[in-house]
Amino acid sequence: MAKLELQNLRKQYRSDVIPVNDISLTVEDGEFLTLLGPSGCGKSTLLRLIAGLETPTLGTVIIGNKNVNHVAPGERNIAMVFQSYALYPHMTAAENITTALRLKKMPPEEINRRLTEAATTLELTNLLDRKPGQMSGGQRQRVALARALVRDPEVFLLDEPLSNLDALLREQVRSQMKQLFKTQNKPVVYVTHDQTEAMTLSSRVAVLYKGKVQQLDTPSRIYSHPANEFVASFVGSPQMNLFTLRCQGETVRLGDNIITFNQDEFPNNHIILGIRPEHISLTTVEDTNAIKGQIILIEELGKEKLVSVKIDNCDLIIRALLSQDNIQEGDSVYLGLSPKNFHWFDISTGQRINC
Ligand code: ADP
Ligand code: MG
Repeated sequence: MAKLELQNLRKQYRSDVIPVNDISLTVEDGEFLTLLGPSGCGKSTLLRLIAGLETPTLGTVIIGNKNVNHVAPGERNIAMVFQSYALYPHMTAAENITTALRLKKMPPEEINRRLTEAATTLELTNLLDRKPGQMSGGQRQRVALARALVRDPEVFLLDEPLSNLDALLREQVRSQMKQLFKTQNKPVVYVTHDQTEAMTLSSRVAVLYKGKVQQLDTPSRIYSHPANEFVASFVGSPQMNLFTLRCQGETVRLGDNIITFNQDEFPNNHIILGIRPEHISLTTVEDTNAIKGQIILIEELGKEKLVSVKIDNCDLIIRALLSQDNIQEGDSVYLGLSPKNFHWFDISTGQRINC
């Protein structure tokens, strides 16, 4: 069984470039863990450390209970899939898929068995004699996945493998991949900056920022209980509305509403309140309990609209269903909020406060 474990991993390039800063995590057999974070946050560096393509400044990589820090990349029994596919242009799909097996001098019957199985799984059977130049992006990416599968590695590493595909194809390959890795029963570490990919594919997501794991949790917990202001703002589309509000005792004012939070001793004069756009209701019917505002912009998205509203002390964005009121820019509206959907964050540390 090939559990993957990272212990206090650090990679420092210069005194001020530390893309991986003390990361510890475990990926169990059959677990699909995604590293999610903005460009430049250290995702690829972390993957390359696991693969052995980079040497850690500090810390340990353990695969199947074995410290592999001094094991060369080729000996780690890891299969990596890259955004660029990295296929040999002069080789056919079949040759590309089986290169590593042929180098290992595996018996031809076994190579053929694995090739047939992977080609069937990834619907490549009719394309095996084509070269990369004669295939579409999606087909090339499936060849790259097949090349990883046939190696039967202990760990799969995938670095933004869908980023070069157009939106429709990305969705198709995404669901194929989910099925595929479910049957593999190996640790999978998947890197992406795309929150939809992270949320739909993974059993757990590690949100990375500034070289650190900001939160490691299930997709639903990341959405419902973001650990800090960064995670709150990075996950969710459109972004969570975040307001910096002045505390008056245990209350803050949002528009013409006074909101109470239960925090015995609150050290700061300000607090951050987060509310997701999908958790605000909107009506044109006057409601004295609701917050009064004015619509400044409506963006139609087909089944829903994004409505920007100006209230007394700030602007916010609301996801409104099309069936909801026939609204227009300039209209006065009333916003309904439910305290159970409030997220509070400490102004100085950005950490979640459970009020
Ligand atoms: P991501 O994959 O999340 O976009 P990377 O891991 O590629 O980010 O890079 C993280 C940071 O480390 C970036 O600021 C990048 O410029 C820096 N970096 C990556 N590789 C090197 C290197 N070989 N030398 C110096 N800096 C590097
Ligand atoms: Mg990268």
